[in-house]
Amino acid sequence: MSRRLLLSVAGMGLLSAAGCQLASHDGGDGAVPAGVLPSEPASPPGSSAPPAPPSSSAAASPASGPVPAQPRKVSNPLFSLAADDRLVALTLDDGPDPVHTPVVLSILEQYRLRATFFLIGENAARQPALVREIAARGHHIANHTWSHPDLRGIPDSTVRDELLRTSDLLGNTTGRTPTWFRAPGGDWSDASLRICAELGMRPMGWSVDPQDWARPGTSLITQRVLQTIGPGSIVLNHDGGGDRSQTIAALRTYLPVLLDEGYRFTAPK
Ligand SMILES: [Zn+2]
Repeated sequence: MSRRLLLSVAGMGLLSAAGCQLASHDGGDGAVPAGVLPSEPASPPGSSAPPAPPSSSAAASPASGPVPAQPRKVSNPLFSLAADDRLVALTLDDGPDPVHTPVVLSILEQYRLRATFFLIGENAARQPALVREIAARGHHIANHTWSHPDLRGIPDSTVRDELLRTSDLLGNTTGRTPTWFRAPGGDWSDASLRICAELGMRPMGWSVDPQDWARPGTSLITQRVLQTIGPGSIVLNHDGGGDRSQTIAALRTYLPVLLDEGYRFTAPK
C-alpha cells in the first residue's frame, strides 16, 4: 500500500515539471477537422466560466490535476460498436513508442482520423511529451496497465496498482483521466473488470485482430483487416512493443481503402 503511494507520488513529481504545457492540450488543434473533441473545457480561464471551486484552487492551478474518475458499474468488455452503418473504431496498443507512434500520428492526421491509444504506463512515463501530443491531436488516451502483465494470475492488489498507477500518470500528463481500459492480450478476469469499474473506466476489447504484433507481413495484416471489418468493428493494431513498420505500412494501405468504401472512424467516448 505504502509502496503504491510512493510510486504515485514519484510519478507526479516526474510530471510536474512538464505539466505547464497542458493548457494547450485541446485548444491548440483547431486544425483538426470535423473536430469531435469531446472536450469539456477543464477550467477555461475566461470570465464566463462557472465559478471555480472556492478555497485556494487559484493558487494551485497547474498541479490541481484531472478530475478523479467516478466508479462505474462492472460491465463486460465492449467488443464492437452499436453501429449499423460503416462506423468503426481504430485502437492502437502498447505505445507510446518514440519511433513508431509519431509516424502513426502523421498517418491519422493525413486521413483526418481519430483513434484510441491504449498506452502502457511505463512507456508513457518515458515519453510524456508524446503522450501529450497524442491527446493534443484529438485522440483518446486509454489505460493498458503499467507493465503489460497477464492480469489473470496476479493478486488483486497488483491488478489495482497496474491500473491505478497508469490512470494517475496519464491523467496527470494529459489533464484527463482515462475512461477506457484494455487488458493485455485481451485476457480479462473478474478482478480486472471489477477494478476497472472501481477506477471509473470501461473495458474495451476488439473484433478485428490482424495479429500485427506477430509481424506476419504487411499484406497479410492489410488483408485480415479488409476481410473481417464491418459495421461497428473495433480494430486492434499496435504502435508499440517492437518494430511496427509492417503495421504502419498496412495502415497506409488499408485506411484509404476503407475510407473509399465509406467507412468512418470514431474514438468511443
Ligand atoms: Zn498490449
